[in-house]
Amino acid sequence: MSTGAFEQMPAVCRVCGRSRGWAYVLGAYGVDSLRDTVCPWCISDGSAARDFGVRFTEVIDPPSDVPTAVVTEIETRTPGFSAWQPERWLFHCGDGAAFLGAVGWEELEAYPDALGCVTTQINGWGLDHEDASALVGSLDVDGSATAYLFRCLHCSTYLAYADLE
Ligand SMILES: [Zn+2]
Ligand SMILES: [Zn+2]
Repeated sequence: MSTGAFEQMPAVCRVCGRSRGWAYVLGAYGVDSLRDTVCPWCISDGSAARDFGVRFTEVIDPPSDVPTAVVTEIETRTPGFSAWQPERWLFHCGDGAAFLGAVGWEELEAYPDALGCVTTQINGWGLDHEDASALVGSLDVDGSATAYLFRCLHCSTYLAYADLE
């Protein structure tokens, strides 16, 4: 599983001016996307977000038990991920969960907690039972419906949500 946020390339980082061999390929939210031009280290130390006023993930409606500092860290120091729709960060135990990667149904089967999240989510879309099961079964990293897997940093519960093309 890879988060797909970085690729190896000889780009010079626009924040630290060094060529570190890796660049962020997803693009940030802001006036300047910094696509392919910022190194992983300048994202994690917050300097890219500070110097360019960008966010790497947009957190919409975080749970009320999550401190603002956590939301800020996710938005400004955490690489986003590539999803069909704008990525959605998941939270658990009052904190941001760790993003593990895009997964399909076969991978999800190993994480019953996460599979439960996705099943509940898809059941909420108003499909009949058969269509909902078919959709869950069609989840695939390279398909038109994909799930995104997270793990709680505190209780190790696995979480996921599904997203359609
Ligand atoms: Zn850099
Ligand atoms: Zn938890």
